Amino acid sequence: MTYQVHIVGGGLAGSEAAWQLAEAGVAVRLSEMRGGGGTTAAHQTDALAELVCSNSFRSDDAENNAVGLLHAEMRALGSIIMAAADAHKVPAGSALAVDRDGFSDAVTARLAVHPNVEIVRERVDALPSSGLVIVATGPLTAATLAASIGAATGADALAFFDAIAPIVHHDTIDMDVCWMASRWDKGDTKDYINCPMTKEQYLAFRQGLLDGDKTEFKEWEKDTPYFEGCMPIEVAAERGEDTLRFGPMKPVGLDDPKTGRWPYAVVQLRQDNALGTLWNMVGFQTKLKHAEQVRLFRTIPGLEQADFARLGGLHRNTFINSPQLLDDTLRLRTAPHVRFAGQITGCEGYVESAAIGLLAGRFAAAELKGEELAPPPLTTALGALLGHITGGADAASYQPMNVNFGLFPPLDAGRTKKADRKKLYTARAVAALDAWRAAL
Ligand SMILES: Cc1cc2nc3c(=O)[nH]c(=O)nc-3n(C[C@H](O)[C@H](O)[C@H](O)COP(=O)(O)OP(=O)(O)OC[C@H]3O[C@@H](n4cnc5c(N)ncnc54)[C@H](O)[C@@H]3O)c2cc1C
Repeated sequence: MTYQVHIVGGGLAGSEAAWQLAEAGVAVRLSEMRGGGGTTAAHQTDALAELVCSNSFRSDDAENNAVGLLHAEMRALGSIIMAAADAHKVPAGSALAVDRDGFSDAVTARLAVHPNVEIVRERVDALPSSGLVIVATGPLTAATLAASIGAATGADALAFFDAIAPIVHHDTIDMDVCWMASRWDKGDTKDYINCPMTKEQYLAFRQGLLDGDKTEFKEWEKDTPYFEGCMPIEVAAERGEDTLRFGPMKPVGLDDPKTGRWPYAVVQLRQDNALGTLWNMVGFQTKLKHAEQVRLFRTIPGLEQADFARLGGLHRNTFINSPQLLDDTLRLRTAPHVRFAGQITGCEGYVESAAIGLLAGRFAAAELKGEELAPPPLTTALGALLGHITGGADAASYQPMNVNFGLFPPLDAGRTKKADRKKLYTARAVAALDAWRAAL
């Protein structure tokens, strides 16, 4: 079959991109290495859109939850991933969980019989040099292709491990306790939020890091070294009582306006998105379990009420520095015939990966037809996620991110209660998506 778009990788993103293109009348070659002699350390089958771990698509509440809203938007745009998930759902309260085999088999079967899709079981070892291409090879991209991507993007813009520091919603930081200053008070701009700690608070916090429950590296992750700069905070804590105070929690030069003196230690947060709604706990990448992180990080002065947009982690994960490399329709700026989609763009999660696949497919279809397709508005879940990846996020500290309301432009809603704010976000998104679709 002659094809118009070559999709590399038949996971969540590649399958969704293939479906969107095929339904738009575009002939697609979908190259998937599983079933053609290749595999990853996490996949178990040859099915397309295999779920490598949990069987959950998380909350299905479109009124109060950002990922639930993303489900709804994807359904409205004819997503094959959402249709298969709905057809194979299993009871899970307000979450959308699926029978994993039924789900993947359904995606595979629908794509296999689509007249515009040719599924080829082959490993692609280099970025194709011409034709429209979508790379959707995921967090475990085969090494040969990763090397080719690294050559095209520059090695510094391709990561093999994520080192995720927690991110806090700005409006949940107590600025009566914290203050703004430059990093260790060098320079003129007061870009960092500082949370001060006494000696007792610091020692208790360090002990919490040492004692806290941690997740283990998977066997195949143990061989991938992390850089010293990405060392988990609890590993630094193990190295000595003062290691953190001389590292990420260094208080030097930081006069607390309340005491006029340096605190014993500080936790610093740096702005993480252009909107200023999300703040990154600098140097706090960790393998502490999520519940433990919430409990311990809320003992930090000023973060007692913190809501976390993302918790810390450290995993094997191939992803590119999308804010630096991609344009607003997911094209590689230096080689615009290539789009990226899915987790390799630095979104995180099954649903987010499929959502970016959906957009990549639609953008490629529009480009082929000579049509303009504006990205969805930033006030929609699709637009907020895409906007974050393609420029809203800080490129210098870019790390994978789930969809969350912190990616949306803030509401002008005064002192509205948190539960009501979520409804306002989702109502605004529904209206914006309707207007965007009406203009298609
Ligand atoms: C171990 C692990 C556990 C995870 N658990 C969860 C979870 O529980 N929940 C969650 O929401 N997210 C989870 N994720 C994150 C992520 O959402 C999933 O990995 C998701 O599958 C990403 O979708 P994708 O389409 O980008 O990549 P994938 O679904 O991984 O699809 C990429 C496809 O590309 C193929 N491929 C790779 N290289 C080549 C090549 N050179 N040529 C041809 N084909 C190639 C692969 O075989 C694969 O089928 C996990 C990730 C990992 C690594």
